[in-house]
Amino acid sequence: MRNMMKDPNYKNQQYLLGKKPELKVIAVEEIMNYNLSSAEKEFLCDLTVSTVLQTTQWFRNICTSCYEDTYSVDNLQLCKCIGREVPYPLKWFKISLLCIDGTRKVEIKVGNVAGQKLYKANANNLFDPV
Ligand SMILES: [Zn+2]
Repeated sequence: MRNMMKDPNYKNQQYLLGKKPELKVIAVEEIMNYNLSSAEKEFLCDLTVSTVLQTTQWFRNICTSCYEDTYSVDNLQLCKCIGREVPYPLKWFKISLLCIDGTRKVEIKVGNVAGQKLYKANANNLFDPV
C-alpha cells in the first residue's frame, strides 16, 4: 500500500473515486491472444448466439439443503456433499451457447443467474418432468 501511495496517479484511480471503470469492448479473437496477466481485466464482448448446444443437459440438479450438485443412483438424486437423498432437487441453468462476434465462434457456458436473466424465468419453472 505504501508503494502504491508513492505513485502520483494512484489517488486518481477510477475505483478510488467511486467510479466504475468503463469496460472496453473487444473481439473474441483479441481475448484469445491475451496473456495470463491480462486475464484479470474485465471486458465486454458483443456476441450473437448462433446455436444453443444440446450436447449436454441444460440444467443441473441441486441439493435443496447445501446447494451442491446431486448425482443419480437407481433413479434417486443424492447430494454430492453429504449423500442424502434429495427427492425434489432444484434445477439450475447450465446452458452451452455457441456464439459468434465476426472474428470467431466461441462456446459460452451460461450459469444459473445469467440463465435466469436470459430466459426471464427460473429453471424450475421451465422444467417439465414428463
Ligand atoms: Zn446437500
